[in-house]
Amino acid sequence: MNAFEALGLNEQLVQAISDLGFENPTPIQEQAIPILLSGTMDFVGLAQTGTGKTAAFGLPLLQLMNVAEKHPQALIVCPTRELCLQITNDLASFTKHKKGLFTEAVYGGASITMQIRNLRKGVQVVVATPGRLIDLIERKAIDLQKVKYVVLDEADEMLNMGFRDDIDFVLKNTINRESIWLFSATMPPEVRAISKNFMENPKEVTVGKKNSGNVNIDHQYFVTSAHHRYETLKRLIDFNPGMYGIIFTRTKADAQEIAEKLVREGYEIEALHGDLTQQQRDKVMSRFRQKSLQLLIATDVAARGIDVDGITHVINYELPDDIEVYTHRSGRTARAGKSGICISICHVKETFKIKQLERMINSIFHKLDIPTGKEVCRRQFFHFMDKLMQADTSHGDYETYLGDLQEKFASVSKEEVLQRVAALEFDHFLKYYENAEDLNVRSDFRDKRQNNFREAGPSNGRRDRGNYGQRGDSGYTRLFINVGTKDGFYKASFLQFILDESNLKKEVLGRIDMKEMNSWVEVDKSVASKMIKSLDGKRYNGRAVRMNEADGGFRKPSDERGNRSRPSASRERRF
Ligand code: AMP
Repeated sequence: MNAFEALGLNEQLVQAISDLGFENPTPIQEQAIPILLSGTMDFVGLAQTGTGKTAAFGLPLLQLMNVAEKHPQALIVCPTRELCLQITNDLASFTKHKKGLFTEAVYGGASITMQIRNLRKGVQVVVATPGRLIDLIERKAIDLQKVKYVVLDEADEMLNMGFRDDIDFVLKNTINRESIWLFSATMPPEVRAISKNFMENPKEVTVGKKNSGNVNIDHQYFVTSAHHRYETLKRLIDFNPGMYGIIFTRTKADAQEIAEKLVREGYEIEALHGDLTQQQRDKVMSRFRQKSLQLLIATDVAARGIDVDGITHVINYELPDDIEVYTHRSGRTARAGKSGICISICHVKETFKIKQLERMINSIFHKLDIPTGKEVCRRQFFHFMDKLMQADTSHGDYETYLGDLQEKFASVSKEEVLQRVAALEFDHFLKYYENAEDLNVRSDFRDKRQNNFREAGPSNGRRDRGNYGQRGDSGYTRLFINVGTKDGFYKASFLQFILDESNLKKEVLGRIDMKEMNSWVEVDKSVASKMIKSLDGKRYNGRAVRMNEADGGFRKPSDERGNRSRPSASRERRF
């Protein structure tokens, strides 16, 4: 017997999923399907996107539909239009062999008249976003009287988006239902409240986070124009002098062309693509493994199966078309408990994909500014100086030269020596970046806010951070918190922590500045006190968390400058 049949699914559905290539049920399917097929049990599934949860509720739901009755019997509510369409598509592929079963997607931003017309044709399953659903209920364009099953998908996300009242309204308007099936990646108190207020002894199932983002990966993206992509790549490589990374391109031709250009410009990089013989491929890989190559540029196909330890950065020269490919690419870094960075160079039109990715891997992506030429030079400079200070002088007979050296440099100051060393090492860099242009493309709301912020700052020509520690025109309040990297936080996990604790959405955040012991967080003024209330006094790893407004005193702009000039800083990047 097929494993899906054993769960109680009928032949038509089993045939459809086998056409899709599903061989075995995923853990959530294995546990949920038999319970949901009963039809009468309330259910809470703690599972994320990528675990197969759509089929876990979709398959039993479709089996429970009575095709002879042409009115809504099932209602699936989900947070976004994209998810709404995705669920509808999945259901359509599951019902390939079942005649007379109709599903309609209703979501905002599309013609309501058309949706009403389609609903009137007689559908059994409605997949809806909350706002549009309420609109349809109020227009009496949808009849929920005979809805037996209500599915709330990504419930935590819906509540995060402020749909709490809408969900209550929907549940109050489906009084003849037999069960509610709630799916959520997390279980914040608001989700718990829905289960408490509307469900009866729900059966609860939790599955592992198959597709969850590795918390040690910091996902970053940079927005530039198409013709600045290559220059942006170079700048990001230059800004990270210790980088040991893989760059992904979509095509062989891109990988080859970019590698050739970079090699001509003095970078240690080779391309890995399908045109190489096995011998060439092995040679490239062995150089990369031994770190005599700093960078590898590859297509997804060529990089399949590559498993190299210690990769610090993965760079998406372009975002992949297939979101799942992103997970594979980013998973090349942050292995074995280490941390890593996954950088994506985006065109402004691609930024919508970032939102999809965030949802898919359940991680926050940080939009960063492409560093200026000056910032790159500074980073390189201090990296070099760090190396200088760490140079091993324990071997070799340096003593013999010291006398002569001292004589030679007797009239030269330490500063001058340093300057000359720097000039020797950095002349090409400084020249190259002397008049480097701004590669950033600014378009979204957050950018505009940041630009206003800058404009509101002192007019001394510094581009940013002009009014740290102050409140006012920026719209943000700067908060201090006594946790930092010492507490085991990486930026991504730190953001997750403060957002989870305060139950706020990432949109309220401005810049984050993490240090070893403390951090500073910019939050939208309107929610600053909520964040303080949620975090101040909490315990983290047995330590009391303290959060308060960084009211002018914590770090003045002059301190900021002071910090920036510390050689060891390998400076934290800006948000
Ligand atoms: P979901 O969590 O519903 O977004 O599903 C994630 C992906 O897994 C989708 O591309 C599904 O088509 C796929 N999928 C779901 N169930 C299975 C299964 N039992 N076997 C193989 N793939 C599956």
